[in-house]
Amino acid sequence: MEKNDKKRIALLGSTGSIGTQTLEVISEQPDHFEVEVLTANSNAGLLIEQARKFRPNTVVIGDPSLVGDVKAALEPLDIKVFAGYDAISQIVTMDSIDMVVTALVGYSGLKPTMEAIRAGKSIGLANKETLVVAGELITRLAATSGVNIFPIDSEHSAIFQCLQGEWHNPVEKIYLTASGGPFRGKTKSDLEQVTREQALKHPNWTMGAKITIDSATLMNKGLEMIEAKWLFQLRPDQIDVIIHPQSIIHSIVQFEDGSMKAQMGLPDMKLPIQFAMGYPKRMKSAFPRFDFMKYPSLTFEAPDMETFSCLQLAINSMEKGGNMPCIMNAANEVAVAAFLENRIRFNGIPKLIATTMERASFIKEPTFEDYVQTDKEARILATEAI
Ligand code: NDP
Ligand code: MG
Repeated sequence: MEKNDKKRIALLGSTGSIGTQTLEVISEQPDHFEVEVLTANSNAGLLIEQARKFRPNTVVIGDPSLVGDVKAALEPLDIKVFAGYDAISQIVTMDSIDMVVTALVGYSGLKPTMEAIRAGKSIGLANKETLVVAGELITRLAATSGVNIFPIDSEHSAIFQCLQGEWHNPVEKIYLTASGGPFRGKTKSDLEQVTREQALKHPNWTMGAKITIDSATLMNKGLEMIEAKWLFQLRPDQIDVIIHPQSIIHSIVQFEDGSMKAQMGLPDMKLPIQFAMGYPKRMKSAFPRFDFMKYPSLTFEAPDMETFSCLQLAINSMEKGGNMPCIMNAANEVAVAAFLENRIRFNGIPKLIATTMERASFIKEPTFEDYVQTDKEARILATEAI
């Protein structure tokens, strides 16, 4: 296996919510993992602190204006420092990397993930937008490069765990569970006036701002349906969503004999992160254990597609295929950023996405260049529509 038998990890987006939790897993499993590369976009302070602790071979700071500070702090420690977004895509090909954990947010994850797959690195995939934007291309590339993509998203990790030992048994259906977010039970008119602060308060998970808003609109579950379609090679009609407010059952597989397998546990991203990095081994951990007596009832309800129309828009884009999920994703990224800057209302998010999906040019069988072009066009259209 690898040098010292330790898996050498390149962690893209180390300063984010998934990134910092991945580093916690690595510090709890020092015999299994070591950090080879760390990357951040603009949080140079935290990147420096992480590098001092984990002593990677190389770090990349996305924002080139910050490279001076990072070099001054880390070059004396013999840590190589590079700057700029393109450097992230270049660094993932380094020989000494065994696995690339993609914890970048949004479309920015696409290029580095593609380059890592081309270089034959196994992927721990948190960045779901990569599969939303270009799932067909990414899964084809992974298959031809002989690369495994291990899901970190908790629902997809649950499905992956339920499928262990079942590779020859066809899946009839999967159920992705959703907490319902902070606005579960509200109507469209209730949501008219909700603030950024209310939307950023997720009941069960602490995550980055973008995915927290996606959870409040239920767009996150739409993105996850598309992610599941590609990871597990399913048809859209085999993927269902069920609201489960306690977030204990992380998702369910239903097989052709009618049997259902579910994976459950307390909501804690460190478990799926560790499972993806350690696969096929389950490593002993001190994560808090589930206590049945604290959860006397686990409940389920149907999603309200009318109030949370982002979910329907994502489903429409998945059914349409081609570059439509890429259009939908770009419009959503623009809409969420605009909402976070108080430039549009909460209910403006689905409106902006719907308008962009109507206006952008549809391509049935896009190439990588088409996706790049589509993302640009959809961002311009969405920005004009604000
Ligand atoms: P965060 O916003 O917390 O972190 C994003 C990371 O990516 C940061 O390190 C950030 O650097 C870096 N980054 C952001 N934009 C760029 C860019 N343009 N170029 C280079 N680096 C960039 O996000 P999360 O950790 O919450 O989410 C990461 C991914 O994981 C998302 O795709 C999300 O959907 C998915 N995910 C997250 C879960 C969670 O619990 N958080 C659960 C399941 C999936 P800097 O700090 O310097 O800005
Ligand atoms: Mg999830």
